[in-house]
Amino acid sequence: MKAVRLIEPGRPVEMQDVPTPAIGPRDVLVRVKAAGICHSDVHYRAGVSPVRPLPLTLGHEVAGVVERAGAEVLNVKVGDRVCIHYMVTCGDCAYCSLGSEQFCTSGSMIGKYRNGGYAEYIGVPARNAFRLPDEVSFEQGAIMMCSSATSFHALRKGRLRPGESVAVFGVGGLGMSAVQLARAAGALDVVAVDIDAGKLALAERWGALPVNAAQTEPVAEIKRLTGGRGVDVALELIGLPLTMQQAFKSLAVFGRAVIVGLTDRTFEIAPYNDLLNKETEIIGASDHLASELPLLLDLARRGVLHLSGVITGTVPLEAGAINAAMDRLEHFGGDGRVVIVPGD
Ligand SMILES: [Zn+2]
Ligand SMILES: [Zn+2]
Repeated sequence: MKAVRLIEPGRPVEMQDVPTPAIGPRDVLVRVKAAGICHSDVHYRAGVSPVRPLPLTLGHEVAGVVERAGAEVLNVKVGDRVCIHYMVTCGDCAYCSLGSEQFCTSGSMIGKYRNGGYAEYIGVPARNAFRLPDEVSFEQGAIMMCSSATSFHALRKGRLRPGESVAVFGVGGLGMSAVQLARAAGALDVVAVDIDAGKLALAERWGALPVNAAQTEPVAEIKRLTGGRGVDVALELIGLPLTMQQAFKSLAVFGRAVIVGLTDRTFEIAPYNDLLNKETEIIGASDHLASELPLLLDLARRGVLHLSGVITGTVPLEAGAINAAMDRLEHFGGDGRVVIVPGD
């Protein structure tokens, strides 16, 4: 089969002919219908974060059709539309037993530590395959497995309750899902903070109150929009010390700031004013859980979560087109997702 693979960091990905994956009795072989090109993939290609063993097929945002199912597989059958949970875990270690399998001691992410979905087929344990509702396209199902699932987990970590208020810092791919999911969870006011007018306009269409941080100081504006109170939950999806600090400072009494954006840098807090005097919390959120995916997919089936505005284009399963899409992500950022759609 054809697969687009990372041969060596710092080099363009390349098309290779590789054997179609062999599957065990509890695995499925999925014919890939859509594979999202994620910002992480650009980092992998650049060598910013490790990928092994090389060469390896990239792609952790995958949806397709079950082509073959092992003899012991019960949850899906041949012909089912599915999307794939990207974390392959052991199911037995202490973390897996507790349902916190993103910390599995032998967990491995597809498209990073095992072959991913930039290919005609992918083989995964059947428990990583989740039925994709007919109402949801393969393209949307694929990208939901990364950005939407991570936003959903972050909101759950923030213990958002109906009637509360939320601020979302950064309304790109993750943030657009976060706005919709926060509304679906019963948040009354959802404030979207960004410096990109186009993204803010899209967030506003989904019911967010837009705050352009290039034009106004976001903490003061959030306080103003919430009658001086601040928000109950603030999500930081950007990965900048400044926006982490702003997220934290925008909290109401008992507020929770959930940090999702990645950075090695530090940020400062004022313990008296912002932490103990308001009993606020700073919470880290890492990836997401398989157990969160069925509800996420049901929200998509109902149209409560809709990512059509996030997907900006598709490319065929060809190295040149994929490298070009990755180059655009690398040089211009942008949060529109390009999805690989292999031909039949
Ligand atoms: Zn991703
Ligand atoms: Zn485990």
